[in-house]
Amino acid sequence: MRDADRRTIIAGLGAGLAVAASTACAAPRGRKIGYAVVGLGRYAELIMSKFAECDQSRLVALVSGTPEKLIRFGEKYGIPASHRYSYADFDRIRDNPDVDVVYVILPNALHAEYTVRAAKAGKHVMCEKPMAVSVAECRTMIAACRAAGRKLMIGYRSRFEPYNQLAIDLAKKGFVGPTRIITADHGFNAQPNQWRLDRKLSGGGSLMDIGIYSLNATRYLTGEEPVEVSAIESTDRRDPRFATVEDRITFLLRFPSGIEATCVSSYSSNHNMYRVTGTQGWIELEPATAYEGQAMRIRRDGRTEARSVPVPKGQHAGQLDHFAGCILHGTDPLVPGEEGLADMRVIEAIYRSAREGRRITLG
Ligand code: NAD
Repeated sequence: MRDADRRTIIAGLGAGLAVAASTACAAPRGRKIGYAVVGLGRYAELIMSKFAECDQSRLVALVSGTPEKLIRFGEKYGIPASHRYSYADFDRIRDNPDVDVVYVILPNALHAEYTVRAAKAGKHVMCEKPMAVSVAECRTMIAACRAAGRKLMIGYRSRFEPYNQLAIDLAKKGFVGPTRIITADHGFNAQPNQWRLDRKLSGGGSLMDIGIYSLNATRYLTGEEPVEVSAIESTDRRDPRFATVEDRITFLLRFPSGIEATCVSSYSSNHNMYRVTGTQGWIELEPATAYEGQAMRIRRDGRTEARSVPVPKGQHAGQLDHFAGCILHGTDPLVPGEEGLADMRVIEAIYRSAREGRRITLG
């Protein structure tokens, strides 16, 4: 490897770490932002375990429709009965000064309702991806938080993950030349009998749940918004899992600078990768957006090398502390409601393109 290459990569690494540092503001000593977690399912369970790694965030309240979960997780995390809520008495959270943020980790179709209720209760909101099930809902959520003077952030955790941060930085600097093509593949084999396969609760199939990682990556790797979308859906409707939602949807995005992205979204095959290809080579992450274990390879000047990056803090704790820092310091989140809205706008266009069998132009 040439010294010049090594220097450039190290500079890129430094920049990646600088991004990491800038997304985690230092807290005024002693004050930690209190989170209430709404919906105590699988992902909430992971998130609750991550507060132990946080510097400026703490878990202070739980919201669930299952009394047994409130007791079990309440005891596990030392949350007193006074700070445990059912969905019916959720609005009483307004009277709890320990709760600064409501973190919505419910099925997608419930995100809008609980975000609006949380904002009306005077709380900041962290909402899981996809932000909601339509552009109209996203707009309502943004308006509710704005009207209440509260912040809204979407759970795009990869923005707090060092390998993704470095990939963004290297792509934007043109480390493998100006970006021309992005490929991004995300999918898993969906198990039957879950809300993800029920359109009323999910809003859609693989695209809403996992393909959104391909889409979001193309937007953060380019820093641009797509202007044209083409999509093909492929779903075996005889498979009982896919009675109301799509399985595979492959989409092509064209960006204003001429970059093209080809993306896979699937509920019947396993993928988690992206590759940014420029005029002189490529940058690849595989896995790209997993909870951990990211691996990067870079090909430049005819040579392929693996890159490793220090991971000082997990992406989940990074995300929680970033929002806490925004509240403590009065700054804007890196991934506000407008980011969720931007993805949803493209998602609607992808579905429309697949349905109508034609290219959709985005204004
Ligand atoms: P889950 O099924 O494990 O949990 C959903 C929770 O919502 C359960 O506790 C369930 O009891 C509760 N719930 C309340 N009302 C419900 C209703 N009407 N129907 C069904 N369940 C209801 O799901 P999950 O995997 O934890 O996903 C929750 C949200 O988190 C989704 O929006 C998902 O996209 C998001 N998520 C994000 C990530 C990430 O990495 N950012 C990972 C997984 C899930």
